[in-house]
Amino acid sequence: MKIGVPKEVGANERRVALTPDVAGRLVKGGFDVVIERGAGVSAFFPDDAYTAAGVKVGDRSSVIGQSDIVAQVQGPVPGELASYREGSALVAFFQPTPEYIRQLAQRKLTAFSLVLLPRITRAQPMDVLSSQATVAGYKAVLLAASTTGRLLPMLVTAAGTLPAARVLVLGAGVAGLQAIATARRLGAIVSAFDVRPAVKEQVQSLGATFLEMAIEEHAETAGGYAKELSEETHRKELAFLAAAVKDADIVISTAAIPGKKAPILITAAAVQGMKPGAVIVDLAAETGGNCELTEPGTEIVRNGVSILGPLNLASTLPLHASQMYAKNVSAFLGHVVQDGKLRLDFEDPIIRDTCVTHAGEVRKS
Ligand code: NAD
Repeated sequence: MKIGVPKEVGANERRVALTPDVAGRLVKGGFDVVIERGAGVSAFFPDDAYTAAGVKVGDRSSVIGQSDIVAQVQGPVPGELASYREGSALVAFFQPTPEYIRQLAQRKLTAFSLVLLPRITRAQPMDVLSSQATVAGYKAVLLAASTTGRLLPMLVTAAGTLPAARVLVLGAGVAGLQAIATARRLGAIVSAFDVRPAVKEQVQSLGATFLEMAIEEHAETAGGYAKELSEETHRKELAFLAAAVKDADIVISTAAIPGKKAPILITAAAVQGMKPGAVIVDLAAETGGNCELTEPGTEIVRNGVSILGPLNLASTLPLHASQMYAKNVSAFLGHVVQDGKLRLDFEDPIIRDTCVTHAGEVRKS
């Protein structure tokens, strides 16, 4: 079975779907792997590292047009779909919007969206959302640290004592917990808030303070995700957070509701109450942002507060982001391929949830 890995074409996309190490293991496992020339270069994996691992290097049209499975990071651009072989499979990390899925079905691809992977224990090795959120949470703190005008740790020096920076993390899921750990390593005093009470212990175990707000409704789904809050509770939350951000030197916001626009947690008025020199890194920028003022993909300054809305942050650390992504993809392939064939058991939640199109049919909309 042939796996093709094209070079990513998305703007600012530096990751590659398979690294030499992981691709080499797939080759040893009996797959034929072909990578587009130069596909790994921006993640620091040159072609000869792939060749040394037993991977073939080819041109784009053969990688896309002659593979049984095409593995990529972002989904194919619609203009290129015609080059994908009808009946081939696609494994990528794309948002399954109805129009896009329709186009994948039209091309008769068996397409798997890793965004839809269920967060069950069995799927953890394939969990691209978690691996890439880990990278983003880490990088968000570094971005904030390099934007703020202050040092993060407390320093006692002959030139005076510098107090530790105060970092507030909003949303303590995978990215938020990694942001907490990173800010702690840099010596900041960290606090965090989430609507799911279950995360309190996780926050505390990382040495951060959990900010408590009485939430009367149950804010967590059976699957462990947050639910949208009622208007009343959301209003209370905004007031609670407007007070909390006043003291913060850095706010990292990561709050998300799967499939929905991100909740607003920091209003424009709350930003006005913040200290000059404070920094907000809004990791929810891709789904609208947690701060009312966030402009996705750019940085703005309001009343001396910098508000950063970075997009695709994981791609800015392409080596490790690709390494983790590749391991996730390889685990996924190990699950869906058996005896050299795709095993399309739609009773299996991993396959059922991720497979958006098959044999010309839209399976998820
Ligand atoms: P996410 O990206 O969907 O959301 C980030 C965080 O924002 C979440 O912690 C959420 O509770 C929080 N949030 C949402 N609305 C909020 C609001 N109004 N105010 C404050 N915070 C708000 O979350 P995620 O990082 O993808 O993780 C979601 C869950 O999945 C977690 O419980 C995580 O532990 C779990 N998970 C399970 C597995 C597994 O078992 N395989 C793997 C990864 C994650």
